[in-house]
Amino acid sequence: MDFNLINLTSHAEEEKEHHPYKVVILGSGPAGLAAALYAARAELNPLVLTGMELGGQAALTHTIENYPGFPDGVGGSQLGELFQKQAERFGARIEFDIASKVDLSRRPFVIETESGQEIKAQTLIIATGASPNHLNVPGEKELTGKGVSYCATCDGWFFKDKEVVVIGGGDSALEEGLFLTRYATKVTIIHRRDTLRAGAILQSRAKANPKIQFIWNTVVTEILGEDAVKSVRLKNVVTGEESTFPTDGVFIFIGHKPNTQLFMGQLEMDEGGYIITDKKMQTSVPGVYAAGEAADPIYRQVITSAGMGAAAAMQAARFLEEHE
Ligand code: NAP
Repeated sequence: MDFNLINLTSHAEEEKEHHPYKVVILGSGPAGLAAALYAARAELNPLVLTGMELGGQAALTHTIENYPGFPDGVGGSQLGELFQKQAERFGARIEFDIASKVDLSRRPFVIETESGQEIKAQTLIIATGASPNHLNVPGEKELTGKGVSYCATCDGWFFKDKEVVVIGGGDSALEEGLFLTRYATKVTIIHRRDTLRAGAILQSRAKANPKIQFIWNTVVTEILGEDAVKSVRLKNVVTGEESTFPTDGVFIFIGHKPNTQLFMGQLEMDEGGYIITDKKMQTSVPGVYAAGEAADPIYRQVITSAGMGAAAAMQAARFLEEHE
């Protein structure tokens, strides 16, 4: 991905020490970069700390077909680059760094980063997104990167002319399963129920694809292999019958968990760890906003995350006006 990373000059470092940023944004997915665009256009000179994944989860998606304005679809990483370019055009500063500790007990808020920076912020927008859930079965951890994957766009190519299984029955499982048919000779979708959660269009496409087959009412209980995946142990949840299914790869798409551990004990969260906000995207701490999948267990779309990011930046601007 061709993200232009900005190196700080010592002068800028010095300035940062004495003058807190008006807006600091954690995360560079659609929510974070939309917030950066709006904050930059409000002349608040926002700082974005990208987090681990430049462009967030959307950048790992091969094609995004439901973001308005792109009738033929747009590459996930390409959309991320466009978001970044647009935010930078208005003065957003985007740094490749990861927040490792935050103190939200008083303003300015303090953010410590993995590169050793201590950043002060008058307002904070949390757009740290979500990460894929794990199956937590024997063999999964050991064989991750050796046939177990959570990203078809990243790893699909390695399964050219091979057979893979996809776990899950939601939009991600079907979308990524369809993508994998470009490379794999056979894609078997293993779902724990007999009804898919995915939307109608993806269901029809997957069911019509000759390379895709389904195994229903079945869970994976173990992933087997030494240096590479060889097979999965399956259990039919209706009959209790167990079997071994040979495969070269296991792609797991069983939902996500929000990346909010950093804020535990400082912000109100629901039982799933999603940050609770009001309609103005404000968290339980005034001046701290949350947007995108870190605060959204319901929609989790590029467009809704970007909308939440824009709203959070507008509210941060209003907060600053009221408190200056
Ligand atoms: P999801 O909708 O939560 O689906 C997760 C799937 O994994 C479900 O089918 C679930 O089964 C299954 N599952 C969960 N835990 C499991 C476990 N321990 N073992 C086996 N199966 C398990 O997650 P998603 O597909 O990642 O989608 C997340 C959000 O992103 C959704 O809102 C979705 O609409 C959106 N999305 C949209 C698109 C698109 O519009 N093109 C593409 C990707 C994602 P059950 O069905 O039995 O619960």
